[in-house]
Amino acid sequence: MTDTLLDFGDPADLEQVRRDFRAWLVENPLPQREADEPLPVFLHRWHRQLHNGGWVGLDVPEEYGGRGLTSLHQVAVSDELGRRGAPGVPRIGYLAHALSEFGSEQQRRHLLPRMLAGDDVWCQGFSEPGAGSDLAGMSTYAEPDQDGGYTVNGQKLWTSYAQFSNLCLLLARTDRTAEPHTSISAFVLPLDRPGVTVRPLRAANGDDEFCELFLDDVTLTQADRVGGEGDGWALAMTTVAYERNALDTGHLPKYGLLIERLRRRAHEDRASLPDGLLSEIGRCVVDYQVLVAHSRRRIAERLAGQPAGPESSVDKLLMTRAEQRLYETALKVQPEEVHTAGGDVFGDYLYSRAASVYGGTSQIQRNIIAKRLLRLSANSRG
Ligand SMILES: Cc1cc2nc3c(=O)[nH]c(=O)nc-3n(C[C@H](O)[C@H](O)[C@H](O)COP(=O)(O)OP(=O)(O)OC[C@H]3O[C@@H](n4cnc5c(N)ncnc54)[C@H](O)[C@@H]3O)c2cc1C
Repeated sequence: MTDTLLDFGDPADLEQVRRDFRAWLVENPLPQREADEPLPVFLHRWHRQLHNGGWVGLDVPEEYGGRGLTSLHQVAVSDELGRRGAPGVPRIGYLAHALSEFGSEQQRRHLLPRMLAGDDVWCQGFSEPGAGSDLAGMSTYAEPDQDGGYTVNGQKLWTSYAQFSNLCLLLARTDRTAEPHTSISAFVLPLDRPGVTVRPLRAANGDDEFCELFLDDVTLTQADRVGGEGDGWALAMTTVAYERNALDTGHLPKYGLLIERLRRRAHEDRASLPDGLLSEIGRCVVDYQVLVAHSRRRIAERLAGQPAGPESSVDKLLMTRAEQRLYETALKVQPEEVHTAGGDVFGDYLYSRAASVYGGTSQIQRNIIAKRLLRLSANSRG
């Protein structure tokens, strides 16, 4: 099913990149996760291995540590990994885009190669206890000082894997009087700065993904700021727009594999499948194909030089629907997975519930579509 993923005006060398990557994978198989090795640590090892082979940042310019190819080349690598059920390339593309677009030349030259190599591990400090959907209502404040630096106070929440990170892309207000969308700035926060406390939170499924981040009189310099003062909102919107494409996130091949599994199982056990389950599998296939078409369109637009924008909210909704229906259906086709705590389908089913929350909830995506794509409000901010 994934064969149709990339057949639109492919660059001439795309097949060669795929062949080279397949050959590399034969020589460099996925490492084994060690007992008790935290997932982010295992994925970091895999990140470094991929980077050593030259398979991270294919679409990043060479002067910033990449290979100067296109998003399609990077997607092809994700696709090959997804077909094998291997973890995808590290999910840093959206951070790389934000830094490329808003960072100074010095930040791009220093931070991008380190990000691609896995020398720095980043987390995203946007949400707060009182500001998730209403991100513009954040209260973390970076008080400007006379030397052009800042003193930061506040709290972030849901900061994924901060305990395994050394840098945080932080949003903080830098002006108490300006309206929210022009008073937020973005910073690179080294997590070992005095005044930073990272406290992991145990989720209901036992995972330690989330952290609280406490900021008490943390000092930041002007050089830590990404973009101009007040550019934080635009940077955040760029970041989440790139976070919402199913091709960038590498989710598509994973869905494709599971659908194939379900189809095979449905053929084998046709007589014993409960009523209606075949048509549910059919709906999963339709969701998947629609998502593929939309995601491909987004990449085609990017190749044509169009930056990611509010259209990505459509992709996020489609991805959420496709993912949640797929795992719900998978558990009906393979009910034994429900009882296998830690089984891949059951674990993925549980995590799929979060798809309608992370990166902006489904309600917020609908608000963005209504305001910014359909222009249903005079105030068209997302
Ligand atoms: C797995 C996962 C990973 C995450 N990782 C990170 C991370 O690394 N860094 C980070 O900064 N954040 C992260 N988040 C946080 C995420 O961005 C927020 O959870 C999300 O933006 C929603 O904010 P909230 O949880 O405060 O919910 P709220 O904003 O309180 O929303 C509660 C409910 O009200 C609805 N609602 C709120 N406002 C409106 C409105 N105007 N119109 C209609 N409905 C509305 C929402 O849709 C939701 O159903 C993560 C979340 C998850 C689930």
